[in-house]
Amino acid sequence: MPTRRSPVRALMFEAPWQMPLREVEAPQPGPGEVLIRVRAAGVCGSDVHGFTGSTGRRRPGVIMGHEFCGTVEALGEGVSGHAVGERVVVQPIISDGTCPECRAGRPNLCLNRRGIGWSVNGGYAEFVSVPGQNALPLPDEVGWQEGALVEPLAVALHAANLTPLSVGDTAVVLGAGPVGLLTVLALRLRGAGRVIVSDLSGHRLDLARRMGADEVIHAGEVDPVETVRARTGGRGADAVLEVVGITATARQSVLMVRNGGNVTWVGNSAPAVEVPMQEVVTREVTVRGAYAFVEEFPRAVELLRSERVDVTPLIELVAPLADGPVLVHDLARGTLDAVKVVLEP
Ligand SMILES: [Zn+2]
Repeated sequence: MPTRRSPVRALMFEAPWQMPLREVEAPQPGPGEVLIRVRAAGVCGSDVHGFTGSTGRRRPGVIMGHEFCGTVEALGEGVSGHAVGERVVVQPIISDGTCPECRAGRPNLCLNRRGIGWSVNGGYAEFVSVPGQNALPLPDEVGWQEGALVEPLAVALHAANLTPLSVGDTAVVLGAGPVGLLTVLALRLRGAGRVIVSDLSGHRLDLARRMGADEVIHAGEVDPVETVRARTGGRGADAVLEVVGITATARQSVLMVRNGGNVTWVGNSAPAVEVPMQEVVTREVTVRGAYAFVEEFPRAVELLRSERVDVTPLIELVAPLADGPVLVHDLARGTLDAVKVVLEP
């Protein structure tokens, strides 16, 4: 366990395009908190876009990282149910447990919602303190790198759970980033008959096929809307999940869904997008947002433990924390096309 005299290393987001490795004061577990030694932390697209300042979703002065797991190193005052040495994965949504949304079973929509890795310091560090209730047991069968994928898997499961779908339906996933690819797994579990993935990257589309996509669309070569319509006899897809968060794909999602179909927006990048509202109205399209997860987080752990899903094809680069600044920079510039980068502090 670090003492106040031994600083720990962390990636400090100091300003757009600046997130150097720094020595920071060792975190101490406050009341109700556990100190975690981070073993693996996934780099999320929201961190990369926050790093550039384009989304406004990250504030300077915060240590990012909300996809991580590790071992409990120390317990703060009043912590029960945890033990030093325990393997845990961190559920990053901090909710108050008392507001109307929390009481209604929607802590992901808590009126006082905060996040580990954006509101408070996260896992791009050797050590971090988190509320004890945010640390869930990570079974021995789930490796550290897989443990770093629990959070995005839970996001994908939640999006699939919120999307009305009948067994055998045709679903389209727009965007083959980590959450998009994990959404393919989730839609398979959910009973989709046919999963079509659209992206601009041939590399990511190859990965989509490995993850269980039946068909792929290279959005740089053909029009995704026309292609989906042609492949569904002109009708459109039963469900479309947008996992990018920009106008182009938001528009596509509305235009390629069938009359009366369901669109779920998971992507969260551009603060505002422009969509053809008349298509939504006159074709009775339902558009909904999906944010984070609720019971999907422990279920993601269990799906990994029982090997019902395999997330390892996504992990294309594993690197020490010290490589983080260069890797995040390259991901932001687009010179690195690794689907999931996992840092090992
Ligand atoms: Zn609440």
